[in-house]
Amino acid sequence: MSGPTDKMANAFGAAVGAAVPAPEHALIERRARLLGPAYRLFYEEPLHIVRGEGVWLYDAAGTKFLDAYNNVASVGHCHPYVVQAIARQSATLATHTRYLHEGILDYAERLLATFPDEIGHLMLTCTGSEANDLALRIARAATGKTGIIVTDTAYHGVTATVAEISPSLGRNVPLGLHVRTVPGPSDNRYRTFAASVRAAIEDLAVHGLGTAALICDTIFSSDGVVADPPGFLREAVQAVHDAGGLFVADEVQAGFARTGAAMWGFQRHDIVPDLVTLGKPMGNGYPVAGVTLQPALIAEFGRKARYFNTFGGNPVAVAAANAVLDVIEQERLQANAAAIGQVLLTGILKLQRRCRQIGSVRGAGLFIGVDIVDRHGLPDSVSAAGLVNAMRRRGVLISCTGHAAQALKIRPPLTFSESNAQQLLDALEQSLAELPYGVSP
Ligand code: PMP
Repeated sequence: MSGPTDKMANAFGAAVGAAVPAPEHALIERRARLLGPAYRLFYEEPLHIVRGEGVWLYDAAGTKFLDAYNNVASVGHCHPYVVQAIARQSATLATHTRYLHEGILDYAERLLATFPDEIGHLMLTCTGSEANDLALRIARAATGKTGIIVTDTAYHGVTATVAEISPSLGRNVPLGLHVRTVPGPSDNRYRTFAASVRAAIEDLAVHGLGTAALICDTIFSSDGVVADPPGFLREAVQAVHDAGGLFVADEVQAGFARTGAAMWGFQRHDIVPDLVTLGKPMGNGYPVAGVTLQPALIAEFGRKARYFNTFGGNPVAVAAANAVLDVIEQERLQANAAAIGQVLLTGILKLQRRCRQIGSVRGAGLFIGVDIVDRHGLPDSVSAAGLVNAMRRRGVLISCTGHAAQALKIRPPLTFSESNAQQLLDALEQSLAELPYGVSP
């Protein structure tokens, strides 16, 4: 999915063969033959998952893995309540948004109520990429400018327009000429974040492009997971507004209660975005994504252009999305994300005191980044990838992120329990013990 993740895949994907059992080997070869060379697999020993339930994934041999990575199934894999809502609606009606339907309106009312009052419309897409693509179209139409500012390890999706603003895809995927990058806020660079954004705004002005938008993943997932300090985004957003540009909060990663303290990542920064993009966990696996926005931005666009998305906002997608909100509320998953996130963070900070290869530990709710460093304190992507594979061998699924793929990315379903957290911490301790510097008693 991204440059850093690719580095991890390459560092360990090359090992595929020796460690991989014969049936999986055949699948890997068949996959490469049929799907071509652009896909990547996770793990030195790729997983062949056939079933999911709650926080668990089961492989073809029946071995179960604790999922601490997949934020799509954020209310738990195959949650029966969501599955039933999808099945019921599929058996009733599956059309599109060119007919009147109450489902989408009920959902819009309910979802918009979770946003600041300024945000008044919801537009639905099928993927986060499409949501960002639409947000950029609207931002350009509303501002008359073309320049876009992103962080230097940002990922915003796969369409031609959003791949151009996704530097984490690596050097072989060129950024647009209208794109300026600012250093991601990890390693205390949040302090200079607003100054970097101001410099990018000036550069876009000098080049006659102007600033249409600053777009940020509000938990800076591909930049290594940077949640703190709350509020550091405020000054940068103000600078963009002063220049006549807009702020797009990409909530594809941070949204839907993951950060524990709030429903949306931007709320931790006490800012009001102009547009918000949503995806991944929105339908717990059913493809549904979207944009919420301030109505004035689209008044002109709406007069001049129409918006229709064949599958976006279809009654089944909306039923899935509605059921996800029900589960978040009924199972109090925001509070759970806060509480279990704290258990994980505290446990990892304890391990940090005993392991010199744990650098900075960051996170909010059930989204945690753990830098792995070498004995000089420098990013150690090889050890990070080694840990990801060691955790997989112990039945716990995580991944890597960050500019050098140096950070462990821990992002379990919001239903994670205290005993799930303990299992993860135990596996992490055992895996860290295998590193060159180990874990002191
Ligand atoms: N924005 C962010 C922050 C993402 O992490 C992703 C997906 N990883 C996207 C956008 C794109 O979403 P999708 O894959 O649904 O197109």
